Amino acid sequence: MKMVHVLVVSFPGQGHVNPLLRLAKLLASEGLLVTFSTTESIGHMMKKATNIPGTCSATPIGQGQLRFEFFSDGWPADDNSKRQDIDGLLHRLETVGKESFTCLVKKQAEEGRPVSCLVNNAFVPWALDVATDFGIPCAVLWVQSCAVFSTYYYYFHRLARFPSVDEPHLSVHLPGLPILNSHEVPSFLHPSTIYHMLGNLILGQFQNLSKSFYVLVDSFEELEHEVIEAMSHLSLPPLRTIGPLFRSLKGSSSNSSNGVRGDFWTAAEGCIQWLDSQPLSSVVYISFGSIAFLPKDQMEEMAWGLLKTGLPFLWVVKPPAKEIATDTGLPAGFMDKAQGKGMVVEWCPQEQVLAHPSVACFVTHCGWNSSMECLTSGVPVVAFPQWGDQVTNAKFLVDKYGVGSLMGRSDRDSQLISRETVERCILEVARGPKTEEAKKNALKWKKAAEKAVANGGSSHRNIQAFVDEVRRLA
Ligand code: UDP
Ligand code: UDP
Repeated sequence: MKMVHVLVVSFPGQGHVNPLLRLAKLLASEGLLVTFSTTESIGHMMKKATNIPGTCSATPIGQGQLRFEFFSDGWPADDNSKRQDIDGLLHRLETVGKESFTCLVKKQAEEGRPVSCLVNNAFVPWALDVATDFGIPCAVLWVQSCAVFSTYYYYFHRLARFPSVDEPHLSVHLPGLPILNSHEVPSFLHPSTIYHMLGNLILGQFQNLSKSFYVLVDSFEELEHEVIEAMSHLSLPPLRTIGPLFRSLKGSSSNSSNGVRGDFWTAAEGCIQWLDSQPLSSVVYISFGSIAFLPKDQMEEMAWGLLKTGLPFLWVVKPPAKEIATDTGLPAGFMDKAQGKGMVVEWCPQEQVLAHPSVACFVTHCGWNSSMECLTSGVPVVAFPQWGDQVTNAKFLVDKYGVGSLMGRSDRDSQLISRETVERCILEVARGPKTEEAKKNALKWKKAAEKAVANGGSSHRNIQAFVDEVRRLA
């Protein structure tokens, strides 16, 4: 049988690497040779933090194999200093990165494993051009929701008028979606904000979308069937949900290589043991993902509000980036007062934490990975979105999926959420009037997700159809 080699390339961000690496593992488990690729800087971080194998070896997963290979973006591979210069990063990726990635693709053929198919994500649109130049079929893994995909599609094709940040009273109603008001639309679509550059990058993908033969989405049909149905009338390559990817490998193999993780930072030891020592459904888990951070004054309200709940907590507080070192971190005196009540860590194994029976609720920024991970782990949420698609995800989690409360939105120009609000929202979801309903709904989505990825489920069927197509094109 002809060797089928899929090259999966990810933008160097944790929220991108996680779903793309999960997809890479899933494709390998379906019997393909898969190479996962991102920048050397990130490869270096992943090697330090996790168990990924060296670039010379291939790890067997199911009937297939997974390998890693990284490309340079011109940044020293061992420089892990925090860089907020997204502009610079994008520029380096598009110049040095594209050239180095082109060599990587060429090398695969020279070494006897020509690339049969490339899978990229929205933030590396130029990878599609490289694939097209080599005549390699290309698919996209969309790492946000179908609902958010749909908002970008309508915006890009100017099929609807979107309210700007200055029009808080206006809303937009797109097919298959609830009415979204101005602050529920992904903030990348507000031209006047600092996020516009990222918006342009995502929208650039729509320009190229017809060059892809497939759009895979880390979501599942049961969760988003209205919008998927509405989008089936749009002019798009086949758009198929194959998620939740973090669940898809569970139980599908006893092979421990399925445990290969792509964390950029080392998870703190002892989180799970500490959770083991806490009462059932008691712990508040707080994390804002890999990029977002709370400004100093909001951090303070969060810290004291959390303490006022009296509940045990596990809080991920990432070490602040150099440039913002004085603006983040915990308020003075907090750790003393919190002694014995909770645990503060710089990074944790989030999927394991969310699966732990001691966890009562998740205070989250609503990044799509975190949204899917809590929704399909059956954990109620306290939503505190910051920017981008997080605001739209929060709307869905709270209003449509019914799994929790909105604590507030922390867009740069919005108001401070007081410690009283923090306390009230957490208690309401963890052990108050909303607990039962939120838990019931969260468990319903957990079951639906398990069904979607099980043999014969919607996501399982979709991934198999995709693999068949990749084999056919090879
Ligand atoms: N995550 C983790 N440990 C932590 C915090 C986050 O493993 O302490 C993972 C989380 O499970 C998720 C990813 O990091 O898969 C963050 O992605 P998300 O889309 O939620 O947010 P982003 O970082 O892109 O804003
Ligand atoms: N990064 C990279 N190449 C660069 C700049 C950044 O691979 O030229 C990586 C960097 O290591 C970081 C990620 O891209 O982990 C996101 O960059 P950001 O500046 O947001 O850093 P963060 O503070 O999130 O680590």
